[in-house]
Amino acid sequence: MTYRIAELKEYISREALQQRVAELGAQISRDYAGQDLVLVAVLKGSVVFLSDLMRYITVPHSVDFMATSSYGNSTESSGVVRIVKDLSMSITGRNVLIVEDIIDTGHTLHYLLRILNERGPSAIHVVTLLDKKERREVAIEVDYVGFEIPNAFVVGYGLDFNEYYRNLPAIFVPKEGFFQGETD
Ligand code: 5GP
Repeated sequence: MTYRIAELKEYISREALQQRVAELGAQISRDYAGQDLVLVAVLKGSVVFLSDLMRYITVPHSVDFMATSSYGNSTESSGVVRIVKDLSMSITGRNVLIVEDIIDTGHTLHYLLRILNERGPSAIHVVTLLDKKERREVAIEVDYVGFEIPNAFVVGYGLDFNEYYRNLPAIFVPKEGFFQGETD
């Protein structure tokens, strides 16, 4: 299998990503100074963002993971969300910061907030690298946004197409015809 890089257009460069993630890390570090913090990353898309972001957060914090299913292998949201992997630690009485790769319709985050709020955290906030605000179907509050983007399917920096392309260091938009092509 080879990546069809020629059919991708760079949308957010590696440098722009690093600069914005550093800014988010600095802002989060200021906001959580002197407080306990646990980062809850949503697998798999947010792992690349998390690994950069956590190195820019200077306050002590722990990290945990959850996995939800929403998209399957398609590029359209089904609106149906379920937990595939749960946290390994208790969040009761803790300050939780959910780390998301991208918020689209908002169903995933809405569901996560409901589930996690039932566990009695002292507070839950949200950071997302990308926000497709115009696509929102449920109202949710997002505290930190890396980039607001229009309604386009994007890959790279953790985001996949059929589980591939997560390792690309920048964010790309597939050009016309990409989705009709072979993936192997
Ligand atoms: P929501 O529940 O907000 O509609 O969808 C959130 C999830 O859908 C994200 O965590 C991500 O897995 C997936 N998703 C939404 N938009 C995109 C996109 O443009 N590219 C990729 N690769 N995944 C997306």
